[in-house]
Amino acid sequence: VTGKKTLLVTGGAGFIGANFVLQAIADGLRVVNLDKLTYAGNMDTLASLEGNARHVFVQGDIGDRDLVAKLLAEHRPDAIVNFAAESHVDRSIDGPAEFVQTNVVGTLALLEAARDYWRGISDGARDAFRFLHVSTDEVYGSLGAEGKFTEQTPYAPNSPYSASKAASDHLVRAFHHTFGLPVLTTNCSNNYGPYQFPEKLIPLIIQKALAGESLPVYGDGRNIRDWLFVGDHCSAIRRVLEAGRVGETYNVGGNAERENITVVKTICALLDERRPLAEGKPRESLITYVKDRPGHDRRYAIDSSKLQGELGWRPSQTFESGIAQTVDWYLANQSWSHRVLDGSYRMERLGS
Ligand code: NAD
Repeated sequence: VTGKKTLLVTGGAGFIGANFVLQAIADGLRVVNLDKLTYAGNMDTLASLEGNARHVFVQGDIGDRDLVAKLLAEHRPDAIVNFAAESHVDRSIDGPAEFVQTNVVGTLALLEAARDYWRGISDGARDAFRFLHVSTDEVYGSLGAEGKFTEQTPYAPNSPYSASKAASDHLVRAFHHTFGLPVLTTNCSNNYGPYQFPEKLIPLIIQKALAGESLPVYGDGRNIRDWLFVGDHCSAIRRVLEAGRVGETYNVGGNAERENITVVKTICALLDERRPLAEGKPRESLITYVKDRPGHDRRYAIDSSKLQGELGWRPSQTFESGIAQTVDWYLANQSWSHRVLDGSYRMERLGS
């Protein structure tokens, strides 16, 4: 998508969605940003867009088909990019119903509104329209020591979160096969980077390590995740929107498998260098192993050779450069984190 195109982005006040919106606006696109502002939505992240005529923020639910239909009719977007979701695995264990509501029922309502809008636009616009669904590699389940997830790996979701994302992926696929809606799906590995909530591993460890608090690591710390810098995920989505083949799915990852314990130790070392604790106490000594998450997937690793080969996408960061940038961002933006941690980011919701 190039030029002055208009995107309807859902979940654009969340971690990845907001990074995507900031990048798209910087590149000259128009964005209509539909976000329910659950606990995970944070208008602080979008503060720099205030007064920008190319960004329209609407507080609302993707499951509200009438609202979505109204926004589509009014703004006539060239594409929809669906980030909106409940996204935290631990929360899905405590309360799966909300995950089914947003990730499955909500995505279905969005698809129906998108299909009806798409059917009504002019021929040229109909051919160019895209519905891009942002999903996760967790739909593929867990890996042993060998192999990687490819686009052919059978779905085997293990948590209520990944099960709800898998269901939404299937609905997206079905809307292509049944109704011809021009869909694209991306399945990405674990993201990290600026504006991620401190409930997720990397920002959680950064905040606790900065404060000199104990650093909780699940189980034996040997679970492996394949980490991708959020800006690289966003550039992959842009590339798939631009050139992806309709109806296809693309795996997104940066070949950066790391054990959780390695991630934690890397953050400790970066912070020890930048902000040493009193008497130079090494932060690694703060690591404490805690009871593992039930059903914790052991290893994820993603093969993104289809995206790299077909569409020429490459990540710009290695894990080492991305994690150093991320630590530096959190150091420079402590007020953003503090407003999340003390809850004050929720005081400035639109319409409340
Ligand atoms: P996030 O939890 O930070 O943000 C989700 C956003 O969606 C929030 O702003 C929230 O207010 C909004 N939202 C929730 N329910 C909504 C609803 N019913 N209607 C409208 N908005 C709603 O999540 P994230 O980490 O930015 O993830 C974004 C997407 O990317 C999700 O679909 C997730 O499954 C996918 N994904 C995430 C990762 C990752 O590592 N974080 C990796 C791969 C894929």
